[in-house]
Amino acid sequence: MAKITKLLIANRGEIALRIHRACHELGIKTVAVHSTADADAMHVRLADEAVCIGPPAATDSYLNIANIISAAEITHADAIHPGYGFLSENAQFAEIVELHNIIWVGPKPEHIRVMGDKVEAKRTAAKLGLPLVPGSPGPLETIEEAMQVAEEIGYPVLIKAASGGGGRGMKVVPAPEQLESLMMQASSEAKAAFGDATVYMEKYLGDPKHIEFQVFGDGEGAAIHLGERDCSIQRRHQKVIEEAPSPVISAEQRAKMGGIVANAMAAMGYRGAGTIEFLYEDGQFYFIEMNTRLQVEHPVTEMISGLDLVREQIRIAQGEGLTVPQERVQLTGHAIECRINAEDPETFVPSPGLVKNYVAPGGMHVRVDSGLYAGYRVPPYYDSMIGKLIVYGADREECIRRLRRALEEFVVEGMKTTVPLHQRVIDTPEFMDGNYTIKWLERWLEEQR
Ligand code: ADP
Repeated sequence: MAKITKLLIANRGEIALRIHRACHELGIKTVAVHSTADADAMHVRLADEAVCIGPPAATDSYLNIANIISAAEITHADAIHPGYGFLSENAQFAEIVELHNIIWVGPKPEHIRVMGDKVEAKRTAAKLGLPLVPGSPGPLETIEEAMQVAEEIGYPVLIKAASGGGGRGMKVVPAPEQLESLMMQASSEAKAAFGDATVYMEKYLGDPKHIEFQVFGDGEGAAIHLGERDCSIQRRHQKVIEEAPSPVISAEQRAKMGGIVANAMAAMGYRGAGTIEFLYEDGQFYFIEMNTRLQVEHPVTEMISGLDLVREQIRIAQGEGLTVPQERVQLTGHAIECRINAEDPETFVPSPGLVKNYVAPGGMHVRVDSGLYAGYRVPPYYDSMIGKLIVYGADREECIRRLRRALEEFVVEGMKTTVPLHQRVIDTPEFMDGNYTIKWLERWLEEQR
């Protein structure tokens, strides 16, 4: 067993702070690496050591493998946590970290690689017995093949990038006439965004929910699930509000699907945290992808399970195994997370700038994960998410009431934020009722115009 004494956080923003907090609670020292734009970030101030790794552009800093490894070497960090985004699902980075005898707080590189290629991921999922969205058996090579598959599964179909992520590189094809041009567009967009033009096809489900299961493996053949999260409140295929448990999944469905995914992870020898994403329609689950990292929305699972997921990741990386076997995983109550973005709540135009005043909500069962403070300048170079509000309640109704109260208390002056959007969304009958699907938010926003 290799005890971690100093951990390098290869990320920024709220997740860097989140990781720092877990480390300090475990008595592990932290190293922050940051771009010149993030020198004043909260986690940089709190970390035991900080190293500047480059200019603002992420390709030159947060994605600069050589600089991050050098920072780990000069500070004698014995572990690296990648957070989410940036290098978190880069198998080569994971390999390089391990080659330097640094503990990689993440899955085995081969599993990152397999799941990072969505076509391979679907093949693997099928072998492990997970239900799939009907679609092409592999990458689409020719337009003739695409025509044939689309004919078989029926329009509308969705063209997706094998290396895609963040909801990018997807095209809905309503009818055969548009197939060729949309497939070419998807392919060239994928090439530009991910350096890989490979695309595949799925049936475009009419009105599903997005339901995902949190899993953990010890890397030695033991694995557990921590139930599901409902992430159907989305805009442009990006999650906006997440909750756990899903208002539409029964205890039986949870135990059954959770059991299937945990067994699949055990069979793979999966190590660390992972998320198995499904679309859910008419009582059926359809696997879409697996994320081999911590998710933005992990706190809702923490709230209902009482487990610190970053601590679990660190334990597993140290070879200590899982804290609890499946029988002792207890999910109680309800949790909802709102992603707070520095954006106009109506036009969604980014609104970075100086935080003139900041007051985070508090009180019982209210958690804010954010690196914001008065006087901080939100840099324009990165994602617009400036924080997450996570609220817990004994049941969904109590949780929503508390969320409404916490949103009222949230003060961020100096920029526009999506707080007012959340306030309106959670008061709609559709949200209250819990039956919303992935198309709902965009439809509702359209109606509000
Ligand atoms: P990414 O990795 O880019 O986030 P995903 O495969 O996870 O891509 O899909 C993101 C979102 O796109 C899903 O949550 C869902 O809203 C939508 N989506 C993906 N596949 C389908 C499909 N076959 N039918 C309908 N919507 C889909």
